[in-house]
Amino acid sequence: MNLVLMGPPGAGKGTQAEYIARKYWIPHISTGDMFRTAIRFGTELGLQAKTLMDAGHLVPDEVAIGIVRERLAERDCAKGFLLDGYPRTCPQAEALDQILASWNKSLDAVINIEVPHEILLLRLTGRRTCSQCGANYHIQFNPPKKTDLCDICGGAVVQRSDDREETVAERLAVYARQTQPLTEYYARRGLLKNVDGAKSLDEVFNDIVTSLK
Ligand SMILES: [Zn+2]
Repeated sequence: MNLVLMGPPGAGKGTQAEYIARKYWIPHISTGDMFRTAIRFGTELGLQAKTLMDAGHLVPDEVAIGIVRERLAERDCAKGFLLDGYPRTCPQAEALDQILASWNKSLDAVINIEVPHEILLLRLTGRRTCSQCGANYHIQFNPPKKTDLCDICGGAVVQRSDDREETVAERLAVYARQTQPLTEYYARRGLLKNVDGAKSLDEVFNDIVTSLK
């Protein structure tokens, strides 16, 4: 099964990716992890990506595509894969189609986890993190036992700048702007499976499995 997983920050994509990878015995390929691995192993593309990222630039399409091609060529992807975090643009999606076509393969489905904006805001802005040990909390769904103190180490529990409302709203706007053309691209090809991500993790996963039948 050759799959792409899409969803905004706060959609629970990481958890669903784990469930999907386990059920279908396919590797979960996260571009974030891939870039870190390519950089760690010092591959040529990894070094290019690192140079750009160190300079504060986004990884351009051709570098991202090269890293994805390297990864998909590995043996564990022979029977399928779950791509997460890639493609982000239509040119990247077209490049992915071409890579797969050159191996006589194609995508089977693109799973798109949809969550209403207000729910994403609530999930993301409620996140808190221990400033000492990095433990994660949520003011509503998983609060520390003592207000603003970590259950594990007693450190101060704080809101990361990434999770402040203005930053969250901006991240969500960027995501929506970037991915709308992409969901249209995959909808035109009959590959898009929209899943309601406002439900519980188990319900979302069941819906994903049903959509893949
Ligand atoms: Zn702590």
